[in-house]
Amino acid sequence: MSARQFHDFRAASLYCKPCGQAMPVRERLLLILPEKELYEYVCGTCGEVVGSREVSAAEQVMRREAARNPRGPQVRIL
Ligand SMILES: [Zn+2]
Repeated sequence: MSARQFHDFRAASLYCKPCGQAMPVRERLLLILPEKELYEYVCGTCGEVVGSREVSAAEQVMRREAARNPRGPQVRIL
């Protein structure tokens, strides 16, 4: 509804069966394993699970590195 609410939605809209259309989704951490994390996407309106995603440990490390360095990955400008 409000603009602020949409900042909480990290993923794009996904199709939701109960709503009958693509809806903004919330990302929810479902499971943490040594080698990966499992997330699911929940419809922000009705709460239906509309998708899921796995994040590998390697990707987590990359994310952590990116978070630690606010300037992002170093890019050499030629
Ligand atoms: Zn829905």
